[in-house]
Amino acid sequence: MRNNINWNFDNSYSRLSDAFKEHIKPVAVKNPELVLLNEDLCKELNLDFTKINKDKLSDLFTGNILPEGSNTIAQAYAGHQFGHFTMLGDGRAVLIGEHITNDNKRYDIQFKGSGKTAFSRNGDGRAALGPMLREYIISEAMYYLNVPSTRSLAVAKTGETIIRDAPLQGAILTRVASSHIRVGTFQYVAARNKDDELEIFLDYAIKRHYPELVNSKKKALDLLNILIDKQINLVVNWMRVGFIHGVMNTDNMTISGDTIDYGPCAFMDTYDPETVFSSIDKTGRYAYCNQPAITKWNLSRFAECLIPLIHKDKDQAIKRAKEIINTFEKKYEERWMNMMRKKLGLQGSDDKDKFLIVDLLTWMHQNKVDYTNTFCHLMDEKIKDDKIYDNEDFQSWKKRWKIRLKINNNSPDKYKKLMKTFNPLVIPRNHKVEEALEAAKKDNMKPLTHLLKILKSPYTQQNGILNYQIPSNLDEKYQTFCGT
Ligand code: AMP
Ligand code: MG
Repeated sequence: MRNNINWNFDNSYSRLSDAFKEHIKPVAVKNPELVLLNEDLCKELNLDFTKINKDKLSDLFTGNILPEGSNTIAQAYAGHQFGHFTMLGDGRAVLIGEHITNDNKRYDIQFKGSGKTAFSRNGDGRAALGPMLREYIISEAMYYLNVPSTRSLAVAKTGETIIRDAPLQGAILTRVASSHIRVGTFQYVAARNKDDELEIFLDYAIKRHYPELVNSKKKALDLLNILIDKQINLVVNWMRVGFIHGVMNTDNMTISGDTIDYGPCAFMDTYDPETVFSSIDKTGRYAYCNQPAITKWNLSRFAECLIPLIHKDKDQAIKRAKEIINTFEKKYEERWMNMMRKKLGLQGSDDKDKFLIVDLLTWMHQNKVDYTNTFCHLMDEKIKDDKIYDNEDFQSWKKRWKIRLKINNNSPDKYKKLMKTFNPLVIPRNHKVEEALEAAKKDNMKPLTHLLKILKSPYTQQNGILNYQIPSNLDEKYQTFCGT
């Protein structure tokens, strides 16, 4: 059926080898109902749905009607899941097409929860309403926190029941990403052992994400270097806001450097480096403090894929890749220190900065203090419960901090301004997210809409923000789940 909203599709991935994908349509759903549409994102993408009635929008955002110019595919990929290599692919997602905006930016438009594909294995290809709304909330929150991320355009109910531990309402999320090329996509292509395919794919990824490398004589190494940079930037941002991804498998790491796959993720309240929310992460492989090391591990898997393209001589290629991978720690440490300095409003660097930073984190850990709110307190922002900061050890730390603040022509105006761009006043607190989801499941979208509104301006004071700053009051340890 013809459907001209102002989608402007140009489906470059579809033109790649059929070995990389399956041509498949979303499976039609019984009773579609749009429940969320991201109007701000529509505007950014130059999409205007305002003249389309709700029924038709519901059909459009479940795939019952496909827009003109779309070319629907499921992408093949592989990945190390908790360290073990597996063939994967879009088991419950379909790429509708690549939309080009007026300013020539290219975005994948993907349905998540759109039915079985060749890669579904034993899964039903479907997704539940709660987790799709959760991805919408957290991914949008990340975007407004200035953390690179995929985004969410819409959530629609399918009107079908899906079976998990209990019967749940089915739903489809429309995900927007600069691409869905993952480390795992490279692993898939590399595992096919066809160097010409790998080279074509490398060229494709470079042209799409890093066109500045198109004429490079050492594309593979340059891409590896850029990806190290991008992923360090990403993980430093996660550490900054206390985000725990929860399932950093190589198939959940993008080449663009955006956060992807909001399954078992959550934000940390009390500062504890060992924090894990994911129900299946028994060993803490993806704990808050392990995220940088896992990033490096994943990048090493990425480097392995590129070996045939780095040098004809395998030993030489490995040597060069290793040299680059081994730059990770130093780069990470530098970027993390600079980020923490900014959280504390410090100008320039001082030999003792590391001690100052680590001592604050240790104090938070030992005294079970909220991570986000501590920085709010340091910015003199009002928070509900600030008695803990009368603590003697904290006060003596604060004196050291005040002395350090004076270095390099700093002033209260200057340091507060800096701190305010690095320390969010509000993050998606787990209990607030749960409260919004529970209401949404009963067709009350008000708490969710309000939460989204608050999360849109995380660095600005807003009326009624205090309730959104309270650390989680959930009785039991908060648990999150994969593949829900
Ligand atoms: P994830 O944990 O979301 O990264 O998914 C890991 C793999 O499992 C991917 O290949 C997904 O497409 C697949 N998968 C997750 N849930 C389902 C489902 N309900 N049906 C089919 N495949 C799924
Ligand atoms: Mg995934």
